[in-house]
Amino acid sequence: MSEDTIWKSATQLARELDAGEVSATDIAEHLIVRADATDDKIKAYLNRTDDRLRADAAASDERRAAGEARSRYDGVPVGYKDIFVTRGVTSTAASRILESWVPPYDATVVSRCTEGGLPMTGKTNLDEFAMGSSTENSGFFPSRNPWDLDKVPGGSSGGSAAAVAAGLVPWAWGTDTGGSVRQPASLSGIVGVNPTYGSISRYGLIAFASSLDRPGPLARTVEDAAALLQMAAGHDPLDSTSIPDEYPNLLDGIDGGIEGLRIGIVKEFVPTQEGVRQKIDEAYARLEKLGASLQEVSLPSFEHGISAYYLIAPAEASSNLARYDGVRYGRRAPGADIVAMTASSRDEGFGAEVKRRIMLGTYALSAGYYDAYYGKAQKVRTLIIQDLARAYADVDLIACPTTPTTAFALGEKTSDPLAMYLNDIFTVPVNLAGNAAISIPAGLAPEDGLPVGLQIVAKSLDEPTMFRAAYAFEQDLGFAGSPEGRPEL
Ligand code: GLN
Repeated sequence: MSEDTIWKSATQLARELDAGEVSATDIAEHLIVRADATDDKIKAYLNRTDDRLRADAAASDERRAAGEARSRYDGVPVGYKDIFVTRGVTSTAASRILESWVPPYDATVVSRCTEGGLPMTGKTNLDEFAMGSSTENSGFFPSRNPWDLDKVPGGSSGGSAAAVAAGLVPWAWGTDTGGSVRQPASLSGIVGVNPTYGSISRYGLIAFASSLDRPGPLARTVEDAAALLQMAAGHDPLDSTSIPDEYPNLLDGIDGGIEGLRIGIVKEFVPTQEGVRQKIDEAYARLEKLGASLQEVSLPSFEHGISAYYLIAPAEASSNLARYDGVRYGRRAPGADIVAMTASSRDEGFGAEVKRRIMLGTYALSAGYYDAYYGKAQKVRTLIIQDLARAYADVDLIACPTTPTTAFALGEKTSDPLAMYLNDIFTVPVNLAGNAAISIPAGLAPEDGLPVGLQIVAKSLDEPTMFRAAYAFEQDLGFAGSPEGRPEL
């Protein structure tokens, strides 16, 4: 085994585990050394579970020795955004209000990965309750972008993205409500997937906006992202919005190429940064070179996506977060009576952005304003779904940038919520519509040397076509697994 272990893909590690060239314990120890050396700077983890990682890895080695591997990936470690509930391990959503909450059960994503034999490295940082695009809204500390420590890794799944990009773990789980897997993947130079709504269980996710929230994998290669998603996706009776049909196989035919595919380019989506524009134009040309036929599609309702999202998501959040009352979960502050106690617990426990969202959402739902705000936003949501359906009459996939710019500096947007919200302008429509999307690296922007992400958007449950296109693009570009695809740290 070499020092290169930390940069190997999960699929490569699985091959080496199978061949007996490496043990799960070796991999775990390498990741622990790596985290010891770098996570003080990156701050990807809220909570490293090194003891658990070692115990899980040892158990995996025993299983393999007995010929009882639970899956091909048994022994390949994984990290979880700290919004996934983990039995016996603090789960905070990066909120002070849940600072000491230790759940009695595992999220379905976690239990399925555990059943697949994946050791847990720890819980990664995020914006509090996944509200944000930079991890700066974490109730604890911001994470940093491994490509440039003065820059944000994106958010809200920024801890998972930074951990994967920095070689702290080969793959990790995030959640995407408005872009929170794809945007940090884009800003951190890795792959991030937002699967079709209902195809992967929300059971055991600390809820932000239930009609939009979805777990999604972050990885350094497209194949790894597909494999991790496959492990956890599929029907779950514990999630009332789970699709009962079988989830398609993502790995079969992933290398089938894109000859003859029709790909739509979104006319309205133009990055603001010159270097991002350049890399995205090059990406379109590459897709064409690989045999796809490109055509422009117009999605006029998409420009209202952010406005609709910032009514619907806060409305749902104001309802979901009502459960934090200082009694049932986590933190309790003193108060003379129940009302005062609830108020002071919430005042102490919630950060400024969370309070802003609760107020926005409560206002949008209030009597007399419901139709003007929430009702109208739902109509925009329908228009977005219809625009997409119209576009998909002519194309198989849609390609567009994931973000308007590369990673921005810490502190740059914290005093301007709207500027922060606009980061998700290209990702939010997919959450509103419910279909699938992936962000893959498209190279580094020439002016700042930071990663650019290409977004490929598929029809609902057409993840196989999406992964096929992403894989073809990745193989041809040669960024993943290359020195160019690794930040210097
Ligand atoms: N940045 C968006 C927000 O702040 C999306 C977050 C997410 O996808 N969880 O709500």
